[in-house]
Amino acid sequence: MNRSHQLDQLKQDLLHRRDALMLALSGELTMLQETRRTGGDVVDFASDSTAEVLSTQMAEAESRELADIELALLKLKKNCYGQCEECGQAIAWPRLEALPYAANCIECQRLMEEMEEESNNESTPTFPTLSANQVDYRDSDLV
Ligand SMILES: [Zn+2]
Repeated sequence: MNRSHQLDQLKQDLLHRRDALMLALSGELTMLQETRRTGGDVVDFASDSTAEVLSTQMAEAESRELADIELALLKLKKNCYGQCEECGQAIAWPRLEALPYAANCIECQRLMEEMEEESNNESTPTFPTLSANQVDYRDSDLV
């Protein structure tokens, strides 16, 4: 299997993932609108707002991933796909297969995570819930 065929395969994966995300996202937005519409009605307000927070967070994670995928597709188009945004080196193929929209090579990613951890330890977190979720989401995707 040659490289261009592999790239083609990755592109298909990215396009499928994008479609799935768009579908999920529009579903969540509809759900959000519905909770807002029925909110304050007969429905219990507490569980209602929990559902709203959850779907908002999911929608945020999904739109972030969607943006990453759009960027990867753009790079494929411009023939600069698979290059690390930090150091410009080629990203290792297994990493791209595992994470087709990876923007950095594994070394730069590791450095960035270390820096992130350091800054997390130093500063008092102003928005702990959101930043913790972002880190979890990223980590689970990198395995
Ligand atoms: Zn790099």
